[in-house]
Amino acid sequence: MTTKIVIASRNENKIDEMRRILETAELDLELVGIAEFPKLPDVEETGTTFAANALIKARAISACTGLPAIADDSGLCVDALNGMPGIFSARWAGSHGDDRANLELLLTQLSHVAPEHRTAAFHCAAAIALPAGVEQVVEGIMTGRVIDAPRGDNGFGYDPIFIADGFQITTAEMDSAGKDAISHRGRAIAALVPVVSRLLS
Ligand code: IMP
Repeated sequence: MTTKIVIASRNENKIDEMRRILETAELDLELVGIAEFPKLPDVEETGTTFAANALIKARAISACTGLPAIADDSGLCVDALNGMPGIFSARWAGSHGDDRANLELLLTQLSHVAPEHRTAAFHCAAAIALPAGVEQVVEGIMTGRVIDAPRGDNGFGYDPIFIADGFQITTAEMDSAGKDAISHRGRAIAALVPVVSRLLS
């Protein structure tokens, strides 16, 4: 029987990535976005870790919809900034989700940092929560470095300034399948697939 699952995010780019990655797993799922539930409250991300925030979002949306919910929390941790912007990645420059301003601020903050010290990693925690209270969270990481000027039009967020280890192109210059194969979100969702399969069977 097909199981309906809510993807607990308002970020269309993340929803597309999560949907794409989950669909390749060929689980018998009907994935619905939270746009289908216009009265849902905004969920405050009050956690201090990616995992805590992913669980907060999945738990809240599952409780409000009565359906299993999947949520991710993600961000870019830059070594020269002691792991920042980290969980604050979406609102690094102040207003939530202003990708261009966030990227520009990060470039300014790293402008005096030498290339060999511009190491960074994208982190993603992916959580599933069921209305009965069962929940689990898994994580994925993509290590690399931050370059000094944007390149590429694909992806979102900090993709135009991030080059993954072993590559010469930014994740915004990769096609979606290429990014999914190595990304923090690709890895986290891949780790979530057997969990979803077990919890919903
Ligand atoms: P969240 O919605 O709180 O998880 O915020 C995630 C933020 O981290 C996004 O708004 C982006 O700024 C950044 N981010 C997370 N994943 C990616 C990615 O795959 N590419 C580029 N930026 C990302």
